[in-house]
Amino acid sequence: MQGAVQDTINVLGKSKYVIAFTGAGISVASGIPPFRGENGIWNKYKEKLFDINYFINHTQETWDMLCDGFYETTLKATPNAAHIAIAKLEESGLLKSVVTQNIDNLHTKAGNKNVCELHGNAQRLICMKDNSKYSITDFDLQVAPRCKLCNEILKPDFVFFGEMLPEYDLQMSIKECSICDVMLVIGSTGTVYPAASLPFEAKKHKATIIEINPSPSTFTNNITDIFIPLKATEAMTEIIKHFNL
Ligand SMILES: [Zn+2]
Repeated sequence: MQGAVQDTINVLGKSKYVIAFTGAGISVASGIPPFRGENGIWNKYKEKLFDINYFINHTQETWDMLCDGFYETTLKATPNAAHIAIAKLEESGLLKSVVTQNIDNLHTKAGNKNVCELHGNAQRLICMKDNSKYSITDFDLQVAPRCKLCNEILKPDFVFFGEMLPEYDLQMSIKECSICDVMLVIGSTGTVYPAASLPFEAKKHKATIIEINPSPSTFTNNITDIFIPLKATEAMTEIIKHFNL
């Protein structure tokens, strides 16, 4: 274990372009439940409420669910030690960007500037007709909010089942994967596609893959060069200590 952390520090010290790829595991310590597993979101909420076609036909039902705890948990969460460590790495110039599967806005809250949000951001709403974007704080959410320009129903600006990934963020992520020489994979189990294909993309371009996950994932035996079997908060705290951040 110590060996893997030391190896990571050595690799980062020699790197030219480091990016981070993060998944739900990094936000668990901020109180955001993962999607799957015992305390997962899919045990509490029906998956169909996040299906785009179901949402179009049962909008208020989805909004009721979002207001019944989902938003409260997501919007009130604060960055944990791992998010803060990643922000410090970017500020120091060592890390160039973050590609995240999370919709919780915690990388931005922690201070990261270059964040590709593969699945959108729960802090925003989007008009399904003209793509106008709003902050969630602009509305009283008890009633399904409507666009101030065209009166169409607004949708949370994160990716529902049946929707494509946001094109700009996806293209930026693919570009980052093609130019990075080190990728830190943190808290992602590699089960949600197409996002999970991005570490493979980085590996294809010869990046060193450093994985931080408490247990092995689908990446571990396929593409991971250095595996750190720790929680994100523990591993990242240890790593940035060595760079005096
Ligand atoms: Zn509109």
